[in-house]
Amino acid sequence: MISENLDIVENNIKIACEKAGRKREEVTLISVSKTKPVSMIEEAYEWGSRDYGENKVQEITEKYDQLPKDINWHLIGHLQRNKVKYIVDKVKMIHSVDSLRLAEQIELECVKRDVEVDILIEVNVANEDTKFGLKMENVLTEIESIAKLPHVHIKGLMTIAPYTDNAETNREYFRQLKQLSVDINDKNIDNVSMSCLSMGMTGDYQVAIEEGATLVRVGTGIFGERDYGNK
Ligand SMILES: *Cc1c(COP(=O)(O)O)cnc(C)c1O
Repeated sequence: MISENLDIVENNIKIACEKAGRKREEVTLISVSKTKPVSMIEEAYEWGSRDYGENKVQEITEKYDQLPKDINWHLIGHLQRNKVKYIVDKVKMIHSVDSLRLAEQIELECVKRDVEVDILIEVNVANEDTKFGLKMENVLTEIESIAKLPHVHIKGLMTIAPYTDNAETNREYFRQLKQLSVDINDKNIDNVSMSCLSMGMTGDYQVAIEEGATLVRVGTGIFGERDYGNK
């Protein structure tokens, strides 16, 4: 079932790339495995998926120990400063940096471990009260400060678009995030690249790809509905 779902998602990604005149290699599919057991990740791994997204530090560290080391782990959920120490040397990328204070903590833990880490700046593109992330108008100033941290490398922007039944309603938000990344790229800030754009989930990844996403985060479309139960 998981490999069939992955076939479907993969095919949709191909179609979206073609439609947008982009190469398939420009887009990385991140399988969002939060709440899902290691056995399901092993199935996706068999299929060929090497990038996984988790939103809890503890879940990454547990799964990290049990799964092959060539997996790229992406932290996509809100990160508390006191948990940074558990993951800086385990993740490929932290997608959810939304303050200088958090970035400074990441810098500190990187220095201790003699590692460097790639991050994305999370943007609350629709200005939703319920979401983390910087407001559009504050992104540039925050990036200029974070860029001074030598072990933390900004690779682009990330957003969680509003929940919707109609992906088209998020097209404008994806477009705005892409434009912001182009504007920031034009500033040529040292230690800042805008090569990554993490946007699009199960409900809207095709539209996100048409608007320039380089990382799409698909959970339900691969692993099925999540059961948060009474955990
Ligand atoms: C859970 C989650 C996803 C995946 O959502 P689906 O709708 O299941 O594809 C993507 N991004 C973030 C940040 C998430 O927390």
